[in-house]
Amino acid sequence: MSARGGIDLGGTKIQAVVVDEGHNVLGDARHPTPVDGGPAGVVAEMAETLKEAAAAAGVEPAALTGVGVGSPGVIDDQAGTVSQARNLPDWAGSFEVAKVLGEAIGTDRVGIGNDVSVATNAEFELGAAKEFQSILGVFWGTGVGGGIILGGERWDGRGAAGEIGHVVVKMDGRECPCGRNGCMEAYAGRRAMEERARHKVDKGQKTQLFKIMEERGRDRLTSGIWARALDAGDELATELMDDAVRALGAGVASACNVLDVECVVIGGGLGVRLGEPYAERIAAAMRPHLFFERAPVVRTAALGDLGGAIGAALLVRSSVPA
Ligand SMILES: [Zn+2]
Repeated sequence: MSARGGIDLGGTKIQAVVVDEGHNVLGDARHPTPVDGGPAGVVAEMAETLKEAAAAAGVEPAALTGVGVGSPGVIDDQAGTVSQARNLPDWAGSFEVAKVLGEAIGTDRVGIGNDVSVATNAEFELGAAKEFQSILGVFWGTGVGGGIILGGERWDGRGAAGEIGHVVVKMDGRECPCGRNGCMEAYAGRRAMEERARHKVDKGQKTQLFKIMEERGRDRLTSGIWARALDAGDELATELMDDAVRALGAGVASACNVLDVECVVIGGGLGVRLGEPYAERIAAAMRPHLFFERAPVVRTAALGDLGGAIGAALLVRSSVPA
């Protein structure tokens, strides 16, 4: 049996899987992303997380065919480096992820790809968009990332395509975490939504959001906390989520007017947690902005939370089809 490893490196968590030839998950593990120790600390934790997934799968880490990594930042797959991963601790420079991770695990085959791009590819090859040739992946979480596949091929532009979070949904609108104004992410990104919620609370608005956060021992508003507050009918959570859905509708529809893709896959922490009802709400919010009658199919990411890691494992599949 030849098994492969996949690691999804995120700003808050590291998700690892071990899969077989048929891309079935044999074992998985999740650790928080370390906040100190810099890139070396993060890569050491990636190795530990993968070893745990391998143990769950009953596979020796060194016996893996290879390990794929989906990472934020600027990726050089040839050199095996990741640089400017700014949402990771002290990772402004370049770090030899492939070399260091490979040594820690005992494999000389480490592939690295952009996190959003590998997650989009996983949905395209194995998940919600299997039957389509052109898709737009929208990863709705802390920020809003996007991946594009056109005519069966990944579209990276000059390396930076897919930044759907930063399409403008309102001229001179709210400030985005990227520093620009009116971006979709300024209304729909979880980080921006939390900032807005704090601002509203400072102005005297009531909400259960931060009470739920404390009860659950968290220091930020996770997707689960948003979901709970929405279920409880919390007014502020509902108001901010309505804004987020409207922004997603305008932004995603605008991208579809340009690309005319067959399918939009909604993933990411919020996308997966809120699920199908929200994919439907986003589809409805898109409708008034679509130029053509024929709307794309809008689906929730089928691979859920593990999609990024499963997609990363695709980076090191054998050249001989299983
Ligand atoms: Zn922005």
